[in-house]
Amino acid sequence: MTRIVILGGGPGGYEAALVAASLGATVTVIDSDGIGGACVLTDCVPSKTLIATSETMTNFAMAPALGVRPHGDPSAEVGSWELTGLPHLTPPDVVTVDPEQVNERVRALARAQSADIERRLERERVEVVHGTGRLVGPHAVETSDGETFVGGIVLVATGTSPREISGCEPDGERILTWRHLYDLKEIPEHLVVVGSGVTGAEFASAYRALGAEVTLVSSRERVLPSEDPDAARLIEDVFVRRGIEVLNRSRAAGARRIGDGVVVELTDGRTVTGSHALMAVGSVPRTKGLGLTEVGVRLGSGGHVVVDRMSRTSVPGVYAAGDCTGVLPLASVAAMQGRIAMWHALGEAVTPLRLGTVSSNIFTEPEIATVGVTQRMKDTGAIAAEVTTVPLMRNPRAKMMGIADGFVKLFCRPGSGCVLGGVIVAPRASELILSISLAVENGLTVDQIARTLSIYPSLSGSITEAARVLRPRDLFASSTDVPR
Ligand SMILES: Cc1cc2nc3c(=O)[nH]c(=O)nc-3n(C[C@H](O)[C@H](O)[C@H](O)COP(=O)(O)OP(=O)(O)OC[C@H]3O[C@@H](n4cnc5c(N)ncnc54)[C@H](O)[C@@H]3O)c2cc1C
Repeated sequence: MTRIVILGGGPGGYEAALVAASLGATVTVIDSDGIGGACVLTDCVPSKTLIATSETMTNFAMAPALGVRPHGDPSAEVGSWELTGLPHLTPPDVVTVDPEQVNERVRALARAQSADIERRLERERVEVVHGTGRLVGPHAVETSDGETFVGGIVLVATGTSPREISGCEPDGERILTWRHLYDLKEIPEHLVVVGSGVTGAEFASAYRALGAEVTLVSSRERVLPSEDPDAARLIEDVFVRRGIEVLNRSRAAGARRIGDGVVVELTDGRTVTGSHALMAVGSVPRTKGLGLTEVGVRLGSGGHVVVDRMSRTSVPGVYAAGDCTGVLPLASVAAMQGRIAMWHALGEAVTPLRLGTVSSNIFTEPEIATVGVTQRMKDTGAIAAEVTTVPLMRNPRAKMMGIADGFVKLFCRPGSGCVLGGVIVAPRASELILSISLAVENGLTVDQIARTLSIYPSLSGSITEAARVLRPRDLFASSTDVPR
C-alpha cells in the first residue's frame, strides 16, 4: 500500500488527501495552522462571508430607488438615484453594521468549515497531524515535535503568506493585512487600501458598502491592472461614484501610526491619512525553511516550487500543489493540482492541468467573472478572435432590478464561431459565467448558444444575445426587449 505524506491542509492538500484515500493509499496530512488552510480560515471563505454582509448593505442602499422606505420615515432621502440605474450609491444611514457580530460570524463560519473538512478527512481514514513540518529527506517529513513521517510520495501544499513591504510592516492594529481584519472591533472609519489587485479591490468595495471611507492606493494606471480593461474601467468608475477615492499611479513608501490613525506616505511625497491601512500587495510562497532545496526540489526566483502540469517537482516522488507553486492562486486550481498529483502518483489515467478553461471571479460589486481568451490576447494578436460586448443596461431584467453597471463580453473563433472565452460584469457574475465556461470547455459555438432559449427576463439573456450578435446570419441579433 502506498504511503503518502502531505504537508499543508488547504485545498491543495486536503483535496489530494481525499483522492489518495479513495484510491486506497495510507495518507497523513500535516498542517500547522488549521485544516482548510488559509483558504478556509483567513482568505477566501472569510472574505466572501464578509462580502455577503456588504452586499446586504448595498441592497439596503438600493431599496429606496425600488420604492422601499424605512418605517416611520416616508420621506427618506432617495438622493439622486434614477430608476434606470443607481449612479450615486452610497451606504445607507437607516441601517448600521454590527462589526463584532459580523466578524464573529466570519470567524465562526471559518472554524466550522475547517472542522467539517477535518471530520471528513478522518471519516476517510486520513491521519491528521497538527504541527509544522519540514522535509528531512525526499520522502521524509519531520514535525516540530520531532516525529518523522516517511512516505513513498510527498506532496507540498504549504500556500502563501501576505507580502510585506519594507516601511509598511503590519502591526495588526492599524496597519493590517487581510488576515487581521476579522479581529477588528469596529468598521474602520477611513480605510486606506494599498494595492488595487483583486484583494485590494474586493476589500475596498466591501468596506465602502459597510460604511467606511475608503482610499485606494494603486501603483498602476487603473485599478485591477491585470484584468479585462473594460471591466477594470467600469469598476473604477463605480468605485469613484460610490465615493471611494482612487489614487492611481501612486506607490506607498511607508505607513506609520499616528495617535488613533495611520499615515501612508507615497513615493512622490504625498501622504494619505486614515484610521487604518490595509496592505494588499500580494503574497509570498511559504517555502522557506521547508528543507526543499536541501533535498533537491527546485524553487523559482520568487521562491515558488517549480512544477509541471502533473504537479511533479524536480525530485521524483515529490509533488507540489496550490499557491506555493505560483501557477494560479485560486482554490479551484490548488485542489485540481492536488488531485492530479495523486492520480499521477497512484498510477491513475490523468490529463495534465489545463489553465485555459479556468474561470475566476472578482467579488467586487458588481462582480467580474472571466474565462478563457482575454482581450489582451486578442489585441496583441496572440489569438484570432471576434468579440462583442452587450451592456447590461439593454437587459430587461437588469432594468427591472435597477442594475445599470455591467456587461457580457464574448469571444469566438472567426469562421467556426467556436466560443473561446468571456467576461461578465454583473451582480453574481460568478454564477452566470458557468454557461460560457461550459461552452469553452466543450467547444460549443455561438450558433449553439444563440439557439439555446434563455429565461425571459434574465441576466443570462445577455449571454444568448451576445452569441446572436456574433452569429452574423441571425436576423434578430439587435434587441433583447422582445421576449422570444
Ligand atoms: C483575501 C483572499 C481572498 C481569496 N478569495 C478567493 C476566492 O474567492 N476564490 C478562490 O478560488 N481563491 C481565493 N483566494 C485564493 C485562495 O485562498 C488560495 O488559492 C488557496 O488558499 C490556495 O490553497 P493552498 O492549499 O495552496 O494553500 P492554503 O489554503 O494557504 O493552505 C496551506 C496550508 O499549509 C499549511 N502550512 C504551511 N506551512 C506549513 C508547514 N511547514 N507545515 C505544516 N503546514 C504548513 C498552512 O498552515 C495552511 O493551512 C483568495 C486569497 C486571498 C488572499
